[in-house]
Amino acid sequence: MADLEIRDLTVEVDGSDILRGVNLDLDKGKTLALMGPNGSGKSTLAYAIAGHPAYDITGGTIRWQGTDLVELAPDDRARLGVFLAMQYPVEVPGVSLTNFLRTALNATNEQDVPIREFMSRLRAEMAELSIEESFLQRSVNEGFSGGEKKRFEILQMAMLKPQLAVLDETDSGLDVDALKVVSEGVNRLTGPDLGTLIITHYTRILRYIRPDEVHVMFEGRIVASGGAELADELEERGYDHLKTNA
Ligand code: ADP
Ligand code: MG
Ligand code: MG
Repeated sequence: MADLEIRDLTVEVDGSDILRGVNLDLDKGKTLALMGPNGSGKSTLAYAIAGHPAYDITGGTIRWQGTDLVELAPDDRARLGVFLAMQYPVEVPGVSLTNFLRTALNATNEQDVPIREFMSRLRAEMAELSIEESFLQRSVNEGFSGGEKKRFEILQMAMLKPQLAVLDETDSGLDVDALKVVSEGVNRLTGPDLGTLIITHYTRILRYIRPDEVHVMFEGRIVASGGAELADELEERGYDHLKTNA
């Protein structure tokens, strides 16, 4: 059994069927890319894994290390090591980056991390991601550029050390330099204790993060699966020729 096992998953949003029977396996230590055209349901799958209440699971299962996540609240999923970096990160006015991360870390760990240890880890991770010290006191995502939001997502991941990371369009809106910093950040966190699902519309990020498998979603189903070479093929041929498989 894979660490993450998604079977026949159907999800409804606002009364429409968006996911129409998704099957996906992901083991810790592996990186999977989920690709597909806009509107195919990639973010819907990410939200379903994380437990967003607007995404109504009407059938199938999402098992993480044998536990059915569908029955669990989002914070319980986070305690099991599940992390979602959202396509459109939300602003949290009045909550500093420092407090946000400390609260998130203490909520997902049994024991609170001592403040000094927390701050020294945080500063080290920020330096790795080229995030300036002045961000410590800034409100979460407020006035952050696209690139800063994405680097902050990877900072959260670095601090929380999830076992399953779902990165939804972490590459969107990034220039090449930011893309490299973010990709290096992800690569640094990759290892035997982390399974990563990279969701992307473009193949660009996959030049820096080589996936073990590539899956393509179209109209709420996975219509093609392969190795990293599938991403190269999509770069050349686009998505259109895959639509006949749907
Ligand atoms: P992708 O991430 O692949 O671009 P999404 O999962 O965002 O696709 O969207 C899949 C489909 O579901 C689209 O047709 C979109 O309009 C619809 N959808 C997604 N989220 C919502 C929502 N919160 N309310 C209404 N429709 C939604
Ligand atoms: Mg989209
Ligand atoms: Mg999306």
